Amino acid sequence: MSLRERDKAVNWHPYTQMKTAGDAIPIMRGKGVYLFDDDGNKYIDVVSSWWVTLHGHANPYIAQRVFEQMNSLEQVIFAGFTHEPAIQLSENLLKLLPGNQEKVFYSDNGSTAVEVALKMCIQFAHNQGKEKTKILAFKNAYHGDTFGAMSVSERSIWTKPFGKMLFEVIFIDIPNSENLESLQSQIKNISDEIACFIYEPLVQGAAGMLMYDAERLNELMKFCREQGILMIQDEVFTGFGRTGKLFAADYLSESPDIMCFSKGLTGGTMPMGITTCSGKIFNAFLSDDKYKTLFHGHSFTANPLSCTAALASMELLLKDETLENINLICEKHSKFSQTLKQHSNVENVRQTGTILAWDFKTGHETSYFNEIGKRVYEEFLLRGIVMRPLGNVMYLVPPYCITSGELDFIYKNISEVLDIKI
Ligand SMILES: *Cc1c(COP(=O)(O)O)cnc(C)c1O
Repeated sequence: MSLRERDKAVNWHPYTQMKTAGDAIPIMRGKGVYLFDDDGNKYIDVVSSWWVTLHGHANPYIAQRVFEQMNSLEQVIFAGFTHEPAIQLSENLLKLLPGNQEKVFYSDNGSTAVEVALKMCIQFAHNQGKEKTKILAFKNAYHGDTFGAMSVSERSIWTKPFGKMLFEVIFIDIPNSENLESLQSQIKNISDEIACFIYEPLVQGAAGMLMYDAERLNELMKFCREQGILMIQDEVFTGFGRTGKLFAADYLSESPDIMCFSKGLTGGTMPMGITTCSGKIFNAFLSDDKYKTLFHGHSFTANPLSCTAALASMELLLKDETLENINLICEKHSKFSQTLKQHSNVENVRQTGTILAWDFKTGHETSYFNEIGKRVYEEFLLRGIVMRPLGNVMYLVPPYCITSGELDFIYKNISEVLDIKI
């Protein structure tokens, strides 16, 4: 049996209607920006394998570091024990974050990083004898697929079967030049009941790469701080260089109470999530009363291999040549967006750092299930490019090791595909 047949027989793929899905393409190996399939075809991975890959596939430096770590310590219980990779990673990461971030809590992925953040905020109130049950989030938010993370995400086709089981969230508009005052009065009325405000800074990724202004977010954050509302900044997608700066936080002068990381954290090599918090949050759990403890953990909390991969990836990220290449991607995207804006099948061209997105004008109703997305995806695959639209939203989120020539190859193919009547 072929790999494709064997896969069909046993595997259930994410976000995939298995009845109608075509065969999954077996990938035999990866190198840099390329993936190689079982038929010898190669593809440029311009979505960074779901926005995680920073330094390319099978990066030899990260592989070497993880291999060495595997030979000395692969895993240890993180209650009662610790290890250097976790200590070093926390030290290195905190140095890059807003000054108020003091402590690092480890988990396994972006959704768990969000769960931990929500629990910190709800118990923060509880530990002070208050029960706060409402949470503030943006319309179109996406924070993950576990129950808490789903609850704070926009209600959609993805969350529909679970609607009754999700907790109470107040969804507000993204701040713009006109609505700030109305948002403020909306929040002010209920600020005592709000456990926290959670948001994706600058870019709402899964909603379709919706982008908004740092200045406006900063004003809203300032208001929340004044109202005593805790803020969770979900940088699971925007972290580690995606926005052109190391973190979206680098565009803001206000600091959140809690931050969430995953995706690019290990350069896309190992699963891991991180929730960082300020001393104010941490201190609210210090007590002689053992019920004030944060009772949360995962079997693989602070896995030494994942920590080592993250250390190696961050080392690569901070190299001059990586930072220069991030700038190159930003500049080339910006130039190409001018070309895109001229195209009659394109609207809402937008860019934040290394993320370039636009809407494919379809002339009829658009949704996540739009056939356009599927046809565009297949057309790009034939051209050796992995581009996975969100409905009719097309976007580029390349690994940082992509070359100028490879970007030009992608841009050229995009221009050609846009000209075809799809
Ligand atoms: C992807 C994503 C998550 C969820 O991360 P997983 O690792 O897929 O669980 C949470 N928040 C944001 C902003 C994301 O983009």
